[in-house]
Amino acid sequence: MTKLLEGKTIVIMGVANERSIAWGVTKSLHNAGADLIFTNRQERSYKKLVNLLEKHEIEAKLIVSCDVASDESVQEAFGKIKDEVGTIHGLIHSVAFANREELQGEYADTSRDGFLLAQEISAYSLVAVTRAAKELMTEGGSIVTQTYLGSERVVPNYNVMGVAKASLEASVRYLAEDVGKYGIRVNAVSAGPIRTLSAKGVSGFNEKASIIEEKAPLRRSIDQDQVGDATLFFISDLSRGVTGEVLHVDSGFHIIG
Ligand code: NDP
Repeated sequence: MTKLLEGKTIVIMGVANERSIAWGVTKSLHNAGADLIFTNRQERSYKKLVNLLEKHEIEAKLIVSCDVASDESVQEAFGKIKDEVGTIHGLIHSVAFANREELQGEYADTSRDGFLLAQEISAYSLVAVTRAAKELMTEGGSIVTQTYLGSERVVPNYNVMGVAKASLEASVRYLAEDVGKYGIRVNAVSAGPIRTLSAKGVSGFNEKASIIEEKAPLRRSIDQDQVGDATLFFISDLSRGVTGEVLHVDSGFHIIG
């Protein structure tokens, strides 16, 4: 039987280690038969990624360095992908950053620089990579980003990142309209709290996770594999009629008042 993503090449941005949401996505897409290209920023993440791929016997088509804070770096990365691989069919954007000191206390205390940094890395980066990736999606494609409920509601300590996620989700809608005419879809998965390197930077993470187990309709926490499979749905043709959407993968927590 042909696998769901057989013959499809997908770029994955944001594997820092085994706990990364992007690693859960990697496993789902690999099991579905996709060819994978990775981008990362830090040397440390590169090494972790190479080890993980080896351990799980996954062969990357290409690994390129990409710092989304730099237009030059984004252009170089996608230029290299174009030269060495050519056409791509999907892109996973699983990248965010805010200063740790802004992920606690009052949102009103957010600095101008901290606000701009969170917006740049966590929201504008989707705009920049969509612009670069669409040139390589000559057969249509699907772009999926990762967001969080803090965009819709006040979640204690999430502060500046919640506002960046609101901007990210609005970008999903505007970008979906821009690239829809080229047969490209743009969607977001809104995952419940998952213990990752980035999540550790948000104060009170443990409380957020335990509330899900207590109050969410499914009464259980979220893991990277659940997000991976939901992302697989968006990347595959199973979701061919869906764009500009935010899908909650949070045990149903967002419906509880
Ligand atoms: P990770 O820390 O594992 O992943 C974050 C990734 O962002 C890292 O790979 C990091 O790369 C990358 N990154 C940061 N800055 C840059 C940059 N300037 N250029 C390129 N890459 C950069 O955490 P998660 O897996 O939790 O985070 C992935 C996404 O999921 C984020 O958007 C996050 O907000 C979102 N999310 C997370 C939830 C959670 O509870 N964990 C819940 C809902 C959404 P490097 O290590 O090389 O710096």
